[in-house]
Amino acid sequence: MAYDPNNIFAKILRDEIPNETVLETDQILAFKDIAPQAPIHVLVIPKGQYTDIGDFSSRASTDEIEAFWQAVSKIVNDHKLNETGYRIICNTGSDGGQEVPHFHAHILGGAAIGPMVSR
Ligand code: 5GP
Repeated sequence: MAYDPNNIFAKILRDEIPNETVLETDQILAFKDIAPQAPIHVLVIPKGQYTDIGDFSSRASTDEIEAFWQAVSKIVNDHKLNETGYRIICNTGSDGGQEVPHFHAHILGGAAIGPMVSR
C-alpha cells in the first residue's frame, strides 16, 4: 500500500490538526488519542512516512526503530505503567482494524484493559 500523505496523522505531523503532545523528538511524536479507550491512551508515531508495522520494520533505519521503541518505553515509564501493567497495540491492515494508515502504536494503561480480543 502506498503511503497517503493526507492521512490524519500526516496532518497532525504538519500541524494542520492540533494534538495533545505527550512527547516529541526528532524521530517521533506521541500524543493523546482523541477517543481514549483507557485512562491513559497515547499514540506514538514515527515522523517518517510508514504505513504500518511491517513497512516500518522493513524500511525504517535502525536509528528510527530504536528511537521509536525507546519513546514507547519512556512514555510507559513516565506514566508509571510498569507498576500495574499496560498494553501496546499496533493495529495493521483491514483485518487488524487499522483506521489511520500511518504506523502507530497505542499505549493503553491506567486500569485493567480487559480481554485481548472481544468478538
Ligand atoms: P487505529 O484504528 O488506526 O489503530 O487507531 C487510530 C486511532 O487514532 C484511534 O484510536 C482514533 O481514536 C485516533 N484518532 C483518529 N483521529 C484522531 C485525531 O484527529 N486526533 C487524535 N489525537 N487521535 C485520533
